[in-house]
Amino acid sequence: MTHSHWQALQSNVPRGLEFSYDHEHGLPGLVCPSCGPWASTGWGYPTVPLSELGAELRWTPPVPLAEYLARRRLAEELVPKGAVLQPATTLGPAKLTLEGSAPEVLVLRSWIAFFRKGPFERLHVASGGRVKAAPTRTLAEWYEVEVPAGPHIHPSSFARPEKVCEVCGRDPRGLKFPLAFNAASLLEDSTPPIFRSVDAPTRIVVSPELVPILREGGAVFEDVKVLGAGEA
Ligand SMILES: [Zn+2]
Repeated sequence: MTHSHWQALQSNVPRGLEFSYDHEHGLPGLVCPSCGPWASTGWGYPTVPLSELGAELRWTPPVPLAEYLARRRLAEELVPKGAVLQPATTLGPAKLTLEGSAPEVLVLRSWIAFFRKGPFERLHVASGGRVKAAPTRTLAEWYEVEVPAGPHIHPSSFARPEKVCEVCGRDPRGLKFPLAFNAASLLEDSTPPIFRSVDAPTRIVVSPELVPILREGGAVFEDVKVLGAGEA
């Protein structure tokens, strides 16, 4: 096993900081006829303009499969081609409130990060424009970063050998942390510099080039294991 400089963001909420965040739009949870009710955690597309989000995509309680699929078709029109959409994916910018002092790179949960305008602009430039974010609806200086789907995790990062639901695609395998990736998959040109694995949306993984900018903004990291060919 080797350690690379790819890292995952950890929550870094300072003691005394009060916060709330909320998205008014997104896909509902799903009541699957095969595996029951569920919702994913992590997926979100804050750069979808509020003006394009109609009443059909406002939050509701979980819905049956046919209605879920109808709403997902609407959402597919609004997100980048090939974007991952799962039950409870958020759409559009967040409402954020903060009371107290916060680092410029603020990771509220391991799956949702807000950046001050300065660090966001540095990341945008350093990534050749690939890091995208949207200003929050409530605090103009704060941006929610959009985290696209990235490579699969290494099979050893799954906790259990269960089967993915054939009806809805729910993945019950669970995860082992720190996550492991194949070295080759991280080095592909198509790997975004900030991503969440299609298998593990609750972790935001960042490339070695961006780590120093994020650290300067107060980010805290968790190692990502990188396995070469033949390692397990
Ligand atoms: Zn299912």
